[in-house]
Amino acid sequence: MTPIYPGSVNAAGQQATLGVLGGGQLGRMFVHAAQRLGYFTAVLEPDAQSPAGLVSHHHIQTGYDDPAGLAQLAQLCQAITTEFENVPAQALQTLAQTRPVAPGGAVVGIAQNRIEEKAHFAACADVSGVTCAPYAVLETPAQVRAVQDERAELLPGILKTARLGYDGKGQVRVRTAADLAAAWAELGGVACVLEKMLPLTAECSVLVARGWDGQVVSFAPQRNVHVNGILAVTHAYEGNMPPALATRAREAAVAIAQHLGYVGVLCVEFFVVDDGTEHGGLVVNEMAPRPHNSGHYTIDACDASQFDLQVHAMAGLPLPQPRQHSAAIMLNLLGDVWFDASGQLREPDWHSVLSLPGTHLHLYGKVQARAGRKMGHLTITGPDVVRVKAVAHRAADLLGLPGLDAI
Ligand code: ATP
Ligand code: MG
Repeated sequence: MTPIYPGSVNAAGQQATLGVLGGGQLGRMFVHAAQRLGYFTAVLEPDAQSPAGLVSHHHIQTGYDDPAGLAQLAQLCQAITTEFENVPAQALQTLAQTRPVAPGGAVVGIAQNRIEEKAHFAACADVSGVTCAPYAVLETPAQVRAVQDERAELLPGILKTARLGYDGKGQVRVRTAADLAAAWAELGGVACVLEKMLPLTAECSVLVARGWDGQVVSFAPQRNVHVNGILAVTHAYEGNMPPALATRAREAAVAIAQHLGYVGVLCVEFFVVDDGTEHGGLVVNEMAPRPHNSGHYTIDACDASQFDLQVHAMAGLPLPQPRQHSAAIMLNLLGDVWFDASGQLREPDWHSVLSLPGTHLHLYGKVQARAGRKMGHLTITGPDVVRVKAVAHRAADLLGLPGLDAI
């Protein structure tokens, strides 16, 4: 991979341009990072008013698998990445015929299918040192019926569609075999995995960036708190989890990325489970082949963000080890924040929030607030965790955010 330097002009007279499939908030923050370095950017996204399309030099407004749109993206860009969980892996493979694409369609395809993803985790368990929750693949009515007799230990469990799930969607919690049959029907009888419900004491995730040449860097694990299956709070500071577990999670995530031959930014999510040991056991949950909501704090708290590393990795630039310079807590801002207790639309009290020290507001340019919709996030940085927590509490109070007890 010949590096694509920002500000350079190629033999065809084109400005160095980086492309992204998908126009959501992750694409927007990628575009910001690429532009700050001096790249031109192109976004392929069908929605006319997308967070990333609105801030990019070029916006190709077609479907993700539209041949003409993909050809135009390849023509404009010297390298291409993705930001969207469910972008067709085939589209990435098509682009890869003519341009460097990171991550590649094959690994994105694995991450998009829980069955393949779990098989990958199992295949590299020896090197990563972690396994996933006990599970069964359910693709036929006979397999669903067999759980009661053959895999009863998986109940109570969580039934998850193999494909197209996110933010807790495509998941049903089941206690009994009857629940399971009903839930499988409710999910449309599609391929699923049934996972044993584990006694979680915490959740964390690790961001890894890997270059074309195999160079790997990673961030320390961040501890995540979910509310209703959606990330609510990320804790990113020294002491956010037991150091021994943090080291294991970080090493496991790097091993998983290496085993995949991954290029780009990968987020690996872990459960910490109560297994009777002092700090609990580590179980790998899932991976996202892109920057992740739990890594947004890196924009304001580190000397290189997850989006900077995404740019560096895809463009073949060096990957220096990032350094976190501030303690940080990130609060996700869902559309709920824009409604008062009686369901009336309201403007959040930004004036008070922005008067607090160390607050960094990121809104994604989404016009319409809806309950559960990710509208933005607020990162609070400071010199130490005590001060960061105090401001996070105050900000969460002002915005009426849930999950406060967990801060
Ligand atoms: P994401 O938004 O991260 O893509 P998702 O919809 O893909 O989420 P998961 O990460 O599989 O879903 O699950 C969402 C949340 O549900 C987890 O973060 C965890 O809190 C809970 N959960 C999932 N699986 C289990 C399990 N086996 N045992 C206990 N809790 C679980
Ligand atoms: Mg998840």
